[in-house]
Amino acid sequence: MKVLVVNCGSSSLKYQVIDSDTEQIEAKGLCERIGLDGRLVYQPTGGEKEITEAPMPTHSEAIQMVLDALVNPKTGVLKSLDEVEAIGHRVLHGGAKLTESALVNDDVIAAIEEASDLGPLHNPANLMGIHACMKLMPGKPNVVVMDTSFGMTLPAKAYRYAIPTEYYEKYHIRRYGFHGTSHSFVSKETIKYLNLDPDNSKVIVAHLGNGASITAVKNSKCVDTSMGVTPLEGLIMGTRSGDLDPAIIDYLCSHENLTAAQMNTILNKKSGVMALSNNLSSDFRDLEDAMNEGNEAAGLAIDAFSYRVAKYIGSYAAAMNGVDAIAFTGGIGENAGIVRKKVLEYLGFLGITLDEEANKKRGETFVVSTPDSRVKVIVLPTNEELAICRETVRLVKNA
Ligand code: ADP
Repeated sequence: MKVLVVNCGSSSLKYQVIDSDTEQIEAKGLCERIGLDGRLVYQPTGGEKEITEAPMPTHSEAIQMVLDALVNPKTGVLKSLDEVEAIGHRVLHGGAKLTESALVNDDVIAAIEEASDLGPLHNPANLMGIHACMKLMPGKPNVVVMDTSFGMTLPAKAYRYAIPTEYYEKYHIRRYGFHGTSHSFVSKETIKYLNLDPDNSKVIVAHLGNGASITAVKNSKCVDTSMGVTPLEGLIMGTRSGDLDPAIIDYLCSHENLTAAQMNTILNKKSGVMALSNNLSSDFRDLEDAMNEGNEAAGLAIDAFSYRVAKYIGSYAAAMNGVDAIAFTGGIGENAGIVRKKVLEYLGFLGITLDEEANKKRGETFVVSTPDSRVKVIVLPTNEELAICRETVRLVKNA
């Protein structure tokens, strides 16, 4: 079955056409600057990358351009749009109601709208993508896969915040967690790769990208996760602070004459390793180069990032009363050997030893712990699009 996977941001849209039988990508690309001047990138597998600059006022025109590129008689990978049997959409926030992947219907759309309050930047864009596909490919099944679904199996002791219950009841303020599609995919693949028992295993997944989060997965179910109501909580990220004393917000708002909304922007966009490196960069390639040239702030940013990851792994090992495997994924987790080394140096007490040679590899699945390490440590590239494709096929086939 050919599946179109769509991931809409507020002014961008990433897409892939995947053949679910072979799990191969047939074409992929993105639309950028939607609502501005518009730019389509189209890359058929084995063919040349095409870039088209053309206005795309809304996501609807953007999707129309993607579909036109896919059926272009010269370079398209499809003879006609009939070949697309289903569309899978990434949706950021499912809120309290949308707890599992679902076939799109009126109730599902209403639930995504309701959760827009919790995901104000992404959910409206996700909805625009869904509406555009329904309009341009009428009758095709659309499936939504939420970033929050994997975290919905958390026990109350992990998802409740210790604040008045009325806020939980009135506004559904609880831990949701994000990157769920990635955590679900990587934990399943880790269990397969290491021959663990899906019903009797303890895995910790560290998704370390520009956004970063970490998850404890016991017997294939997510039992704890570092992001919260929004992706701001938890690890130090590219530009997000992660955990901090909530009283800092009131203190800085009054001393710097900032509104809570302005403070929220600072914590999301101007903090993290970017801030710790004195605004040098949020990219670990730049930070590592600068650290090697003696830049102390860059060194501190990498140290603080790694320390926070190690603390979370330690606490999740306690939460699960043990750990069989730790998986690193995301741009940093897959590529930055220095971060893996720094994190694992804290975890010798768990019986983990790093294979320094293996740790030099990147971009593929490999084990970085030594054969006698009590806990296996693995690097496993995430593939959220494939995970969305698999979910889409599962739902369409069971419909
Ligand atoms: P996101 O999907 O959250 O935007 P990614 O998972 O693609 O992020 O990760 C992007 C980050 O990965 C970059 O900002 C950079 O810090 C890091 N990264 C990518 N490639 C490398 C590399 N070769 N070495 C070190 N870090 C890398």
